[in-house]
Amino acid sequence: MSGSAAKIKVPRGTFDVLGEDAAARAAVESRARALLEGAGYERIETPAFEATELFARGVGASTDIVQKEMYTFADASQRSLTLRPEGTAPVCRAYVEHGMHKRRQPVKLWYLSSFFRHERAQAGRYRQFWQVGAEALGSEDPAVDAESIALLAHLLGDLGVAPVRLRLSSLGSPAARAEYREQLQRHLRAHEDRLSQDVRARIDLNPLRAFDSDHPATRAVLESAPLLRDFLVAEDAAHFAEVRAMLDAAGVPYELDPTLVRGLDYYTRTVFEFTSEKLGAQSGVGGGGRYDGLVEQLAGPPTPGMGWAAGIERILLAGPAAPPAAVAPDLFVAFEAVTEARHAPRVAFVLLAEARAAGLTAQMELAGRSLKGQLSHANALGARYVAILDPDGAAALKDMAAGDQRTLPADAVVHAVLRAQHAL
Ligand code: AMP
Repeated sequence: MSGSAAKIKVPRGTFDVLGEDAAARAAVESRARALLEGAGYERIETPAFEATELFARGVGASTDIVQKEMYTFADASQRSLTLRPEGTAPVCRAYVEHGMHKRRQPVKLWYLSSFFRHERAQAGRYRQFWQVGAEALGSEDPAVDAESIALLAHLLGDLGVAPVRLRLSSLGSPAARAEYREQLQRHLRAHEDRLSQDVRARIDLNPLRAFDSDHPATRAVLESAPLLRDFLVAEDAAHFAEVRAMLDAAGVPYELDPTLVRGLDYYTRTVFEFTSEKLGAQSGVGGGGRYDGLVEQLAGPPTPGMGWAAGIERILLAGPAAPPAAVAPDLFVAFEAVTEARHAPRVAFVLLAEARAAGLTAQMELAGRSLKGQLSHANALGARYVAILDPDGAAALKDMAAGDQRTLPADAVVHAVLRAQHAL
C-alpha cells in the first residue's frame, strides 16, 4: 500500500448504506414484504443490467431516461448493456420470458432493488437509488388500479410518510393520446416564442412534458392548453370513473390533476403520483400507472399491466427518524485474560456458539481488551448479560440491568440466561 495514494471515494450521486440508514431500510423492506405478500404479490429480482434494447423499446426513445440518463456500456462481446434505470420494463421482460401469461392472472410481482440513472445529483436525487415496486399483469379491471394505488397509500401510511398528496389522472388509450398530442403541439407552436427553450426543443418529441415545466411564461401558455381528459374515449372515461369510485369507497383521498404526465412513454389510462411537502424540490415519493401495451411491445402476448415504484431514499427522507441501528446482544462473552498467544480462549467461542444455537443474540470479545475494557464495551453494546469466563471453567454471570452477579459453571450460562429471560 502506498502512503501517498489519494483516498478513493464513492462516485458522485452514490452512497454507502450503513448504520441507522441500513436499519431504517430493513424496516421499510420488512413492512413492504408483509403488506405486498399479504396481498398476493410474489417477490421478483431481475438482473442489475439488461440488453439496452429493453429500455429503448420499453421506456421509450423520447424519454429523459433513455435520451440522457442511462448507464450504457458495451461488454467484452460488444453487446450493448444498460444498468436498469427502472423496474417495470424488466418485470414485463421476465413475464414474457417465463411465459407467465399461462399462469392464473393477474400475475402480481413486487421488488426492492437498486436502479441507476445519470441524473444531477442532489438531496433526494441520486445516481444509484433504491425502489420498492409492485406490478400486476394480466387484468384491466379497474379494481386492479384501485388496489394497487391503495396498497402504496397503505405502505406510505404505515411507514409514517406524511403529509402526502395523491395526484391522479388518466392518459387514456394511445389513440386518444396521439390525437391530443397533435392538438397540444398546435397550441405550443402557436405560442412558441413564450416557451422555455427546453419545452420548445421538445415540442416534436415529447410535448406532454411541457406540463412538468416550472418556467412562468410556459406555465401561462399551458393554462389555455387543451387537456387530455377531454380526449378520452367513453371506455377510458368509464374505466377512470370506476377507479375513482373504488378509491372513494376505500377512503383513499386523491386530487384529480389533468396535467399529471409521468416521464415514461409506456403509460396508458390511470396514472398517479404521491408527493410529500417534506421533500422540497424532489417531492415525488412514488408513482405509477397502467401500461396496457408494454408487454406486447416487448414481443409478448397482449397483456394489460398496472404498477408503481416508490423511492426508498425519499420514503426515508419524508418519514420519521430512523430506529437504532444495532441489535443489543442478550449475552456478551467476556474472559479474564487473553491467552498467551494473545487471542480469545476457545471456551469463549464455544459458549458463543451455544448461546446462538439456543436462539440468543450473542457477541464475544474479539479485540484483546482488558477485562475492564470488555465490560465497558459490553455496556456500550447494550448487552443484557455478560458472562466472564475464568480459566477454570467457571463463569461469573453479570446482569447488566440489575448490576448483580453470580458464579456458575460455564456450560450452565445459556440455560441461566434463558431462564432469567423467561422470568422477566
Ligand atoms: P419514476 O420511475 O421516475 O417514476 O420514479 C419513481 C420513484 O422513484 C420516484 O417517485 C422517486 O421516489 C424515486 N426516484 C426516481 N428517481 C430517483 C433518483 N434519481 N434518486 C432517488 N429516487 C429516485
